[in-house]
Amino acid sequence: MRKTKLFKRISAFVLASAFVCGSIYSASASKTGSSPSAQILYGSTYTGTEQRLRDAFSSATSGFSSTFDITFTLSSVNSSTALNRPRNCSDVCSTFCCGSSNCDSSHSNGGMRILRKMSSNSTFRIGVVGHVLCYGTGGKHARIAGIAEFPGESRRTVITTEVGFTLKYLMQHELSHNLGVRTHCSSQCVMNEDNTYVDKWCTTHSNDIKNNK
Ligand SMILES: [Zn+2]
Ligand SMILES: [Zn+2]
Ligand SMILES: [Zn+2]
Ligand SMILES: [Zn+2]
Repeated sequence: MRKTKLFKRISAFVLASAFVCGSIYSASASKTGSSPSAQILYGSTYTGTEQRLRDAFSSATSGFSSTFDITFTLSSVNSSTALNRPRNCSDVCSTFCCGSSNCDSSHSNGGMRILRKMSSNSTFRIGVVGHVLCYGTGGKHARIAGIAEFPGESRRTVITTEVGFTLKYLMQHELSHNLGVRTHCSSQCVMNEDNTYVDKWCTTHSNDIKNNK
C-alpha cells in the first residue's frame, strides 16, 4: 500500500492501491422499510466543509432509500474534540511514533480507538477525520479507509479523507457494514474495494442488507 489496500481486513503496508477496512462485531438488527437516524461528527484534521459532509451523506444514502427502502435522516453535523488526535502520528502504528503499537487504545491513528471515542447508541454515527487510520489485525497494522461496526446496539463508523476515495463511497460502504454486510467482493458492488461502484450492490450483499443479520 503505499497507500491503501482498500477495505480489506488483512492487507499490509506492502500491498498497494487498495485499502483496508476493519469491521468489528456487535449483535442485532434493523430492517428494510426503516428510517434510521444518523449523525456526523468530524475532528480537527477534517479540513472540508460541513456542507460537503451533508452532500456526501445525502448522495450516499439515496441509494439505500431507492434500493432497500431504508431512509436515513441526518440529525446533525458537528465538530467533536473526541475525534482530534492526541499526537500527530504520521502513519500506521510503529514502535516509535507514539511509543505504542496498541492501535485499539493508545495509537493516535488507531481506527478502533477513534471509533470508540464516539458514544454508542442506536443512532448511526459517522466519524470523519483527515489523517491516516490504522487497524491492527493478526499482528500487523495496515492503513485503512474506514472502520465500521456490524449490526448491533450501536452503529458507529469512522472514515478518513486521507486515502482519497470519495466520501459518498466511503459512507455507502461503511453504512453497508453497519446494515449487515460482513464481507467484500469483486463484483460491481459498493463492497468492492474500489471507488467505482456506488449505488450498486451485488446479489449477495443486497441480501445481506435485506436480511440485516
Ligand atoms: Zn469494508
Ligand atoms: Zn502513534
Ligand atoms: Zn495500528
Ligand atoms: Zn458485493
